[in-house]
Amino acid sequence: MKKIGITTTVPVEVLIAAGYQPIDLNNILVSDPNPGRLITIAERAGFPLNCCSWIKGIYGVCMDSGIQDIICVTTGDCSNTIMLMETLKLKGLNAIPFAYPDSPDHYLMQHTLEGLATTLGTTLEAANKVRDELQSARDIVLKLDELTWRENTASGWENHLWLVSASDFNQDFHKYRQELLNLLQDCSQRQPHPTEQLRLAYIGVPSVYARELYPFIEKHGARVVFNEVQRQFAMPEPGQSLAEQYSSYTYPYSIHERLRDIKAELLQRQINGVIHYVQAFCHRGIGDIIFRDAIDLPILTLEGNDDFFLNSHIKTRIEAFLDMLQRSRSFLRKDKYSQALKK
Ligand code: SF4
Repeated sequence: MKKIGITTTVPVEVLIAAGYQPIDLNNILVSDPNPGRLITIAERAGFPLNCCSWIKGIYGVCMDSGIQDIICVTTGDCSNTIMLMETLKLKGLNAIPFAYPDSPDHYLMQHTLEGLATTLGTTLEAANKVRDELQSARDIVLKLDELTWRENTASGWENHLWLVSASDFNQDFHKYRQELLNLLQDCSQRQPHPTEQLRLAYIGVPSVYARELYPFIEKHGARVVFNEVQRQFAMPEPGQSLAEQYSSYTYPYSIHERLRDIKAELLQRQINGVIHYVQAFCHRGIGDIIFRDAIDLPILTLEGNDDFFLNSHIKTRIEAFLDMLQRSRSFLRKDKYSQALKK
């Protein structure tokens, strides 16, 4: 299959039906042994220092990987992608715009999906067949999510890694599914994590230092049992059609759509505290004001830029946050907690 890069989660069913193998360029960036070199490629090309590292990294991956076709999400993710797309075109790449509708409306989504299918030379009927094929992989990764928060046998890092990879199924959904089945088997042999551990939620875009963040949290007696955006990549509300599925996917729409999902999960998963990750120079950081107003739980806002590791400043802030949660936990009686979340 011909490779096609994606700048964020898109309706991959349409791409696969058109004979393409989707590749999430963000995943290529963070799994590179030296992601900083990909950001340097963009800065040398003239990207400003105060431009988000994900955008610069994606540009670097495009220049480095030889991928010719890129789906650039211009609405529903990041306005920087519009200029990224123009620079990719300047370099001779086939940058194809894709815009999520302004609101999660089935009719608008159907129209959008039909447009993408026509652009790529396929049909929605073919894409819906691909959706059926992908469903078992999605079911299994959502089972892993359940093992994380309900059975307490999967780690926060495993949860992050497999859910975030659902954007492109690690470029091979058969292999992805089999590896997940092996992991589920492994989880079934484990002792559950201690129930007295603090339970955290992680909201916001995936972090540049995720590889170190989750183990660090677990080393300090807590565990992330809800990864908000990563879980959305696995399409937890598939509905009856592709149009329904991508209308229920909350990330591209208003922060209030996201909050409905977040608040329900905070309650269900009995979360003690929330980490809100914001990327330096990202417009989504402003949403911190809204999250702090709507969520009546302690929130730690962490920022990352192009540092793919936890620096000592961030480590100290996480330690202080976990310490505060431990001390105050005994005061968070369950009935008061439920009331607060319903606010
Ligand atoms: S983190 Fe923010 S600025 Fe960066 S690519 Fe994502 S949406 Fe855009």
